[in-house]
Order: sequence, then C-alpha cells, then structure tokens
Amino acid sequence: MTTSTFPDVMDKLVSLCKRRGFIFQSSEIYGGTGSVWDYGPLGVELKKNLKDRWWNAMVRMRDDIEGLDAAILMHPRVWEASGHVSGFVDPLVECSNCKKRFRADDARIKGTPGTPDVQCPSCGMKGTLGAARLFNLMFKTFMGPVEDTASVVYLRPETAQGIYVNFLNVQQSTRQKIPFGIAQIGKAFRNEITPGNFIFRTREFEQMEMQFFVEPGSDMEWFEYWKAQRLEWHQSLGLEHSRLKFHQHTKEELAHYARAAFDVQFDFGGTLGFQEIEGVHNRGDFDLTQHQQFSGKKLEYFDQPNNRRYTPYVVETSVGADRTTLAVLVNAFHEETVEGEDEGRTVLKLLPSLAPVKAGIFPLVKKDGMPEMAHRIAEDLRPLFPIFYDESGAIGRRYRRQDEIGTPFGITVDGESITGGTVTIRDRDTLQQERVQADQLRAVLQARLAR
Ligand code: ATP
Repeated sequence: MTTSTFPDVMDKLVSLCKRRGFIFQSSEIYGGTGSVWDYGPLGVELKKNLKDRWWNAMVRMRDDIEGLDAAILMHPRVWEASGHVSGFVDPLVECSNCKKRFRADDARIKGTPGTPDVQCPSCGMKGTLGAARLFNLMFKTFMGPVEDTASVVYLRPETAQGIYVNFLNVQQSTRQKIPFGIAQIGKAFRNEITPGNFIFRTREFEQMEMQFFVEPGSDMEWFEYWKAQRLEWHQSLGLEHSRLKFHQHTKEELAHYARAAFDVQFDFGGTLGFQEIEGVHNRGDFDLTQHQQFSGKKLEYFDQPNNRRYTPYVVETSVGADRTTLAVLVNAFHEETVEGEDEGRTVLKLLPSLAPVKAGIFPLVKKDGMPEMAHRIAEDLRPLFPIFYDESGAIGRRYRRQDEIGTPFGITVDGESITGGTVTIRDRDTLQQERVQADQLRAVLQARLAR
C-alpha cells in the first residue's frame, strides 16, 4: 500500500461536488449505477476546460499532430487484432454464498481462493470463494436486429485503436511526414471488477490519447521527449510538483510488445497515495503490424526522399480526463482559517483557466443603483467568459460560495462605484481587494485569466 503525506480529502470532495453541482452519481434516484458518474453544471465546465488545455497543447499549438474523433463502435476484428479479446482480462474470484466478485489480487481476501481456508471479504463465509477465472473487461453488445455471435460488437475499452486504423487516412489526407502524431479525446468503457474512489476508476470514462508515429530507431529519443512534455503539461495544470512523479514499468508490468513504459503518477493523498494518471508507452510496431495482419491491408509509410517503405513505431501518451479532473480537484481543495473571522473557508484553488466560473459579480446592497451597475458589468463580461451574478445575502457569504467552487475573482459594486465609476476585484487566493475603473475590468480580468 502507498503512503502519502497529504490528507485524505476524498469524502469532503465528493460531498462538495454533489452539493455544488460538479459531479452526481449516475441514475441516483434509482439508487445509482455502479461506478458511473454524471458531470453537473460546474463539473462539465471544469472537465471541458481541462480537455481544451490538452487539445490546445497537443493539437492546436503543434503542426506535427492532427486531431481525430473516431466512433466508439468498431469492427469486432479490431479487438482481436489489438489483443483485447484474448488478453484484456483480470483474474476474478466469486463467492458462491453472496455472489460478490473480487479481483483475485484483492488485498481484503484472506487465504487462498479455491481452498476451504479462504474467507469472503463481503459476507465473511469461509471456503466459499472459488478459484480465479479470467474475466474480460470489455462491454459487449449486438449490432443490428439479430442477437447472435456474428453481430457481437464491443464498446471500445480505449480510444487508441481508432487512431491506428485511421493511420493512413490521416497521413495521406493531411500529407504529414513522419514523425507526426494523431490525437483524440473520447469515451472508453471497461467493466472494471473493483471500480471506486469516486471518478478515479469508473466503468465509463474519457481518455485523451495521442499516438506519435516515428521511424524505427528514433523511438527511444521520442519516448524521452514525450515523457518530459507530458510531465510538464501536468505541472502546467497547477498540480503541485511534489505530488507528481514517474513510475517505470517493471518487467512484470510491461506488455510483451512494449519497448518501454512510464506512468505519470499523482499523489491523491490518504491511503490512495501515488496512482497513475497517464501512461507514456513505446509500443514499437506492434499495433500497426497486428492491424496489417488482421485486415490484410498495408499500413506502411512511404519515405519518399529515401525511397523506402516501413511500418512506423508508435510512442503513445494516454491520459484519463476524469482521473486528471480528480487530481486537479484534490490538489485544489483547501480548508483555511481566515484572519479576523470565526468561520473558516473551503476554497478550490483552481488555475483561473480551469475554473468553471471566472468571476462573481456582486452589488454590495440591493439599492442605490448598485444592482443596475452590477448587471451592466455582468452583461459586458458574459460574452467573454462564464460569470455568476449574485445579489442575495451578506457579501461575505457570497464570497465564500464562490471560493468553494474555485471562482478566481469577485467583482463588487459599492457606493464608490456609483460616484467614481470604480469597482473592487477580490482575489480568491490572497483575499486582497483592489480598486479598478469599471471600464478597465475587461482588460484586467482577461490578462489574469490567461493563466
Ligand atoms: P489502471 O492500471 O489504473 O487500471 P491502466 O494502466 O489500465 O490503468 P491505461 O490503459 O494506460 O490505464 O489508460 C490510460 C489512462 O486512462 C489511465 O492513466 C487513466 O488515467 C485512465 N483510465 C484507465 N482506466 C480507467 C478507469 N477505469 N476509470 C477512469 N480512468 C481510467
């Protein structure tokens, strides 16, 4: 088990996420769906901001990576070629008494499954846990009206295969030269046996994956390059540097075809500790070679200057949008005492560019022209970024409500605003208030929100 020097904030975070509309349990009124979550009004903005940062860094800011949005349902042979039909399995044990299933390596199991001395971690019965069986993690469904083996299709367990099968389509349509990459963001589904820890491990999730196609021989150099790039990207989200580290896959962890693999890990605190949020893999030519064999179609690159054809190697970066959203939330969550106040505050110290709401607009009181001026400011800023207008209750309360959802700036319209045309900007983290001309607000805020 990993140990962490950071406290476990998960329970508090789950409750904040529900109360303030970040994340709800799926189908909650029916008792919930196992490890599936819905993003509420604030959560959808936060996750979208995170995905936009990835897309910008990986696609928009580079001329050597192209974007793609491949379908979730693919030809079933894809999953034979990729190795998922035979190899995407976890050993699983089942209790014959309570029917609960566990991963065979579940630390809560005492004794050896399949023997009389084993004890079920759920119902506590002895000798009821059977020997381990392999369980495929892919969700199956049927395509078309007939439910037979010929019409079985899978919900993709990763987005990468959509990239491999489109390698030549993208390369030829964009006339990219190797080295170049293809990136996509999309849903993936895994029938995990032991999901949990909120949105850390779920059965439906989003991945942001990029496959970089390189000339064999240059792969280790590109692997090192992408390792460094990806760590830097996580740091750029505001994740504390001491909470991030690399984990190198050991021989046992490494897939048989993989030439090298590192995970970027984040320290989630408490007993969860350091866990993978992204994988950077040197996959050699495994994937393209498999798809060539199974489809019978060539997936080679023609290197014109050298007049030769070859199957490129692939360096993959694969990061979970939900798991990284959780890392961002855990990292941002703070409970603080405030000088001169009895009540402390809960604050999400989110990077301004990630925060779902960028500014709260508050008239100090509901009279003397303040609401009218605050409304004018709100309407002026609304086309630029998400804002929240709030005139109800004490001003301190209103600030606290915005702190709790990570809003970086509070704009207050007071008596001086009416006479002098100025407003105050309150900074979420320093709690400092600064007076600026109302007509300068757009420029001042836009500069600070760029972070
Ligand atoms: P783990 O060992 O945690 O199951 P993995 O090694 O199977 O992860 P990959 O297949 O490399 O994960 O997937 C890449 C990324 O996708 C992971 O780093 C993680 O961020 C995300 N991911 C994978 N499985 C899940 C899941 N069940 N729920 C949420 N995110 C996931």
